[in-house]
Amino acid sequence: MSNLNRSSRKIHIGSLIIGGDSPVAVQSMAATQTQNLDETARQIEILEEAGADIIRIAVDNEADVVALETLRKKFPKPIFSVDLQENYRLAPKVAPLVNKIRYNPGHLYHLDKNKSILEKVQFIVEAANSFNCAIRIGVNCGSIDPEYKEKFIEDQIEGMVRCAVDHCKILDDLSFTNYCVSLKDSDFDKVIDANRRFAKERPDVPLHLGVTEAGLPPEGVIKTRIAFEQLISAGIGDTIRVSLTLPNEQKGQEISVGRGILKDIEQGRFRSVPKNFLDGINIIACPSCSRVENDKFVDLAQEVREITKYAESHKITIAVMGCRVNGPGETDDADLGLWCGPSKVNLKKGTEALGAYSYDDILSRLKIELDLIISARNSQERSVRE
Ligand code: SF4
Repeated sequence: MSNLNRSSRKIHIGSLIIGGDSPVAVQSMAATQTQNLDETARQIEILEEAGADIIRIAVDNEADVVALETLRKKFPKPIFSVDLQENYRLAPKVAPLVNKIRYNPGHLYHLDKNKSILEKVQFIVEAANSFNCAIRIGVNCGSIDPEYKEKFIEDQIEGMVRCAVDHCKILDDLSFTNYCVSLKDSDFDKVIDANRRFAKERPDVPLHLGVTEAGLPPEGVIKTRIAFEQLISAGIGDTIRVSLTLPNEQKGQEISVGRGILKDIEQGRFRSVPKNFLDGINIIACPSCSRVENDKFVDLAQEVREITKYAESHKITIAVMGCRVNGPGETDDADLGLWCGPSKVNLKKGTEALGAYSYDDILSRLKIELDLIISARNSQERSVRE
């Protein structure tokens, strides 16, 4: 679909142009470990067949770069974006292999603590410039730069927006303009708020939209649709990703669902949000990626929804995450959080860790905690009435 209301500038990602009146591009990410060449190649085939405009691949170490090189030889045509995760130093090695580099400002502090953020961004920009790559400044609620998190403790959305705006300024000052920004959260209201605030301040910068960890379909689709309907119809958003928790073979759905939402918006078909949607239990689950620690993750997310159906009228959020990297932080705001390790699942109540349980035991333990929350709330309500 054309995005005629947008005032963003156009940027080039390989042969793809986004921004301005260009069609909104639809992208997804390989959910496999990059070094597992057969499975990652299969993911690329699935996403290509589904019509992905951009395919994102994660790299975190030199072995991932070698794997990426092999994959690029096998797939010379697709537009590849690379997710630098915590290792910004890999930028010059991946830049010749891809069309766009995504860095997360919240992960730059991990390496080379003696270097400034400016030096690290400069390093990434030099690599992108040398190989004609675009850049995405990808700000994520679960990994906000600690400096901004602390400074904007009362308003985390403002922290995300300020961080994105400041990084845009760094790139502008370096005369690098071939970039876009994303501001993601698992809460669609926050995604709407953050992107509106950012677009008001920097309407010239193309935006990549997504509700991160939207979870299982159909709820994950509904959450994403709400955010996209509100933003894209207001002329905000130049590329999208629908992050769904799906088995790897079904990852093409992220593309077909995204195209379906865009088509509906273009044709004025806005789905009304089901009455009371998310007034009751809300299961958040990450879309899974190369970092998933155990293949049982998707089944676990589905089982969590099944076994919590009895509590669906209670306004309780349960977050299910696939790995130890983002799992601990991104479950903090949930009433109950689960994040997967190789052989155990870690359980949290808010920010408090409750322990690690086997994949066989976790569901019964979760139910105990859920019952405790419900009974505590019931007695609280009784005492207010009395
Ligand atoms: S929580 Fe971990 S496994 Fe899930 S998408 Fe995020 S990084 Fe990947």
